[in-house]
Amino acid sequence: SDHKLEYPTSPLEMDWSKLYPDSSKDVTIADIGCGYGGLLVSLAEEFPNEKILGMEIRVQVTEYVEERIKALRENNGNNGKFNNCAVIRGNSMKFLTNFFKRGQLNKMFFCFPDPHFKQRKHKARIITNTLLSEYAYVLKEGGIIYTITDVLDLHEWMKQHLDDHPLFERLSEIEESNDKCVEIMTNATEEGKKVSRNNGSKYIACYRRLPNSI
Ligand code: SAM
Repeated sequence: SDHKLEYPTSPLEMDWSKLYPDSSKDVTIADIGCGYGGLLVSLAEEFPNEKILGMEIRVQVTEYVEERIKALRENNGNNGKFNNCAVIRGNSMKFLTNFFKRGQLNKMFFCFPDPHFKQRKHKARIITNTLLSEYAYVLKEGGIIYTITDVLDLHEWMKQHLDDHPLFERLSEIEESNDKCVEIMTNATEEGKKVSRNNGSKYIACYRRLPNSI
């Protein structure tokens, strides 16, 4: 549980050098509940000049992703490829602002989050009013939240909460279909691949972080 996890007390206390060989730039992309890391490594290739962080709560899954990234770096002769992605074990619902400064992130991904089907479990969902305010805090103006799920009820839930939040505005269909991250997140995650194999549906909604009103 959480008390066994180590968290920096503030973003300034965070030692990123353990995760990224080059710690000159800040993390700008977060993959929340990254699972086995398929999206993480695809984004690392697509955005070689950005730093990407996966957050995952399960110990063994996090260790798997650590090994995966290490192997990718080594297979590329440690020439710097994949140095821009890393994973951290943590509960994104509780400690996000310990890691990220205000306005630090360009993009946040929520791919196939746990659906928590039962009504009494809905408060455990990763998109809620309170959490959206935290996401708005760590995202820069114009930054984007990407969501995808195969569960229609969860899709409606995420849309509803994002629509209701004053600091988010949905991307238009054209913007969504022109965004290469949408294509990547549709195909690159392990859960997304499973959904494809089972001919499941994938529901997408992306939202822009609006400026604070004065
Ligand atoms: N995004 C990945 C994909 O699309 O393949 C994984 C999807 S999986 C259904 C959801 C993941 O979120 C699981 O790996 C789970 O351990 C992780 N998770 C759930 N709650 C979390 C939390 N509070 N903080 C970080 N990760 C969490």
